Amino acid sequence: MNKTKRIEILSRLRAANPNPTTELEYSSPFELLIAVLLSAQATDVGVNKATRKLFPVARTPAAMLALGVDGVKDYIKTIGLFNTKAENVIKTCRILVEQHNGEVPENREALEALPGVGRKTANVVLNTAFRWPTIAVDTHIFRVSNRTKLAPGKNVDEVEQKLLKVVPAEFKLDVHHWLILHGRYTCVARKPKCGSCLIEDLCEFKTKTE
Ligand code: SF4
Repeated sequence: MNKTKRIEILSRLRAANPNPTTELEYSSPFELLIAVLLSAQATDVGVNKATRKLFPVARTPAAMLALGVDGVKDYIKTIGLFNTKAENVIKTCRILVEQHNGEVPENREALEALPGVGRKTANVVLNTAFRWPTIAVDTHIFRVSNRTKLAPGKNVDEVEQKLLKVVPAEFKLDVHHWLILHGRYTCVARKPKCGSCLIEDLCEFKTKTE
């Protein structure tokens, strides 16, 4: 895909949604970190349902730690992989309390050292809570980048590197959310809604639907 097309795609996504953000509910970097950690293989709607009850009783790492693994499990058992996630939440909170003064570090290495936090989660936190121009590639972004040919790649790392290279600076802060939302609601996995897609004429997917 050429540069002119890429810029036009990003411009249209921006015009349609000038201030995109995550659909996860949070009111601090800590809550965002926990919500993203819980969201692996789960929907944002499912995570929000659980955190609406969890966060009011545990708004800080110390308060979460006081709940203990079983206490956290009680709030998140409707979410997939809740046993492992509860353990990771508690281990992560212990590290935040003991090594980071109870704060979420604005630092990639420190974030990725937290249990249950990989590159994708670190990218989401750095971008959404701290407004770094990072691009977390999830299943939606991977699919949209490959179908459209905006930034094709064989795996999420390749797509991330390609997006970082080809997306102009003015779009970098928000491209993560535009592509996720586009993949979640329009360029859906099974049958993309090409007929109502605002970038249909620019997309290079070979088998578009009506
Ligand atoms: S035209 Fe179809 S394949 Fe291309 S981005 Fe839109 S929905 Fe996805």
